[in-house]
This record gives sequence, structure tokens and C-alpha cells, in this order.
Amino acid sequence: MGIFYHPECFCCRACRYPITEQEFSLSEKHAYHKNCFKDMIQYKCEVCLQYLPTNGAGLIEYQFHPFWPQKYCSVHEHDNTARCCSCERLEFVNTRYVSLGDGRSLCLECMESAIMDTGDCQPLYHTIRDYYEGMNMKLEQQVPMLLVERKALNEAIVKETYGFHNMPEARGLCVSEEQTVASIPKKPKVGGHGLIGIRSQPQKLTRRCEITAILVLHGLPRLLTGAIIAHELMHSWLRLKGYRNLNPEVEEGICQLLSYMWLESEIISGTSSTSAASSSSSSSASKKGGKSRLDNKLGEFFMYQIANDSTPVYGGGFRAASAAVNNYGLRRTLDHILLTGSFPV
Ligand SMILES: [Zn+2]
Ligand SMILES: [Zn+2]
Ligand SMILES: [Zn+2]
Repeated sequence: MGIFYHPECFCCRACRYPITEQEFSLSEKHAYHKNCFKDMIQYKCEVCLQYLPTNGAGLIEYQFHPFWPQKYCSVHEHDNTARCCSCERLEFVNTRYVSLGDGRSLCLECMESAIMDTGDCQPLYHTIRDYYEGMNMKLEQQVPMLLVERKALNEAIVKETYGFHNMPEARGLCVSEEQTVASIPKKPKVGGHGLIGIRSQPQKLTRRCEITAILVLHGLPRLLTGAIIAHELMHSWLRLKGYRNLNPEVEEGICQLLSYMWLESEIISGTSSTSAASSSSSSSASKKGGKSRLDNKLGEFFMYQIANDSTPVYGGGFRAASAAVNNYGLRRTLDHILLTGSFPV
């Protein structure tokens, strides 16, 4: 290395004892015993990059995300550390999340394929309608799909459900009432660390059929936006095909299943990165190669979220729907629901 140390001066930065082994680890110009380095990497908080705190009993205490390999100090759960509203990862030192201006933040990976306005979302909407058609579930009706702001979506939900709804945080809605909602027609620009120039236009939804529109929260990455659309399209399909008064577990469960199946098809076909590039006028130069692996990982996370949802209606419903479809296939499951209102067992 060109530098000579007294053996007793060449110490591990972590334990401070001399390094006598031939092999050692180097990081940021500091030397470590191989094992100390491994420990250090293992026990550092990925948010603040400090060692994870130990409790009174000398045990290391931390939180971790069950999907992402992210370990962090418990304190970041409550210290206003930004959490990506899409992938749930916490912002870490030296990264900046993008604020969507409505209390939500987006990590840069999710931002990469985020869909910001109604116009940008149309190609994706068509892709998913085609997916339904390919499954022999063509939607005869042209249901408009609008990207909306969080506030507009929540207001529409209150109107649609007369104030009754039990979703923790809604990201989409299938509207069957006549409403006026604010759609986002123009792409807001990302400036600094937030969005500027969000302009929404009031849009009157008139009842031409039982479904007047599908509303989707703006600013989410392509695969998540698609998963939401696939879910809401299934609500539309059920209503247009005369499925009525289903109990929420059956209806949400089958909608979650279609959402999951669409994600699966996107990940397997590996088309997500290329179609994202062609369907979005986003300025980011490259969405090929390495990006598709990243997109796939995100897609796998959204599937994981659906499958591991702990709520009885969405999670329980999904698991029941998926068991039924595994046993009887989608078509027979749907026929059974139409006749009986429940999943075949
Ligand atoms: Zn920390
Ligand atoms: Zn994210
Ligand atoms: Zn739903």
C-alpha cells in the first residue's frame, strides 16, 4: 500500500485492536478486521447510517421491513423520516425523496416511472383493457379513467360511499355516481424536490352507463398505477356484467386477484420497462437494461403487499379468491360468484 505501520498501530477502526491477520477490510480509508467489518455493515441503520442502538440488556434494537432488506433504528418510525408512499422504504441519509405536495413522498426509484397526469396514463390504461380482453373479459363500455389528486380522490370516495368506507388509504375508485372531479390534465414539472405547476381541471362525470369513471391517485410508479387500474377495472367489469351486492370480501378479493395477476403478467413478460419508456414522455433517458430489474423488484413488492395484506376484506378476500381460482380456474370462479355471491370452496 506504500504506507507502513507499526503492527500495534495498524488497528481496526471498529474494535480498536491491532489487525494482525493478512486479510482485512478497507472502507473509506479505514481498516477493519474482516469480522468487525461484517458486524458493522450488519448492524448499521440504513436510514441514519449510525450503529443500531442497544437496549438496557445489551441487545441491538431495530425495525426492519419484511420485504426490503432495510434495518433501521426504531426512532425513525416516528421522527418524520420520509417514507415512500409507494414502496414504503424510508429515506436515508444523502438521498432526497420527491414531495408530491399532498403529504406523500416518493423515492427516486418509484419516481423514475411515476405517472403524473391523465394523458400520460392512457397508454397504460389501454394495455390493461387489452389484458382484460385477452382474458376474455372485454369491457364493452368505454369507461373514462382519470388521474386525480389525493384530495379529489378522497372527496369522491366520500360522495360515492355516502361517507361510509373502510379503506385505510384509498388509491383508486370506481365511480358510478354523477360527480364533478378534478382531473390532472397537464404534467406537473418536478422542480427542486417537489412538484410545481400541478393544475387540475374540474371534469363533470355524466352517467352514460353504470360506471361513470375510474379515478386513480396520481404520482405513483407505472406498475402500481397499473395494479390500481386493474383492480378498479374489475369493479367496473363486475358491475357491468350484473354482479350485484357482493359482500366486500368477495368483491375486493377478486379485484385484488386481478390486480395481482396483471402484475405477474408484467413481471413475467418483462415488458414493463420498455412500455414504460414508450408510453411516457418522461425525460429520463434510459429505462432499459438495469431499470427493468428494478421495476421487477418493485412489481414483486406490490404483489407481496397484496398477498400479505392483513385486512380481512382485501387480504383475506385475495387469499380466498386465489385459492378458488387455483382450484377451479377464473371463469368457473366468476360463474360461481354470479350464481351464489361467494367463492367456490
Ligand atoms: Zn438510524
Ligand atoms: Zn419508492
Ligand atoms: Zn376495490
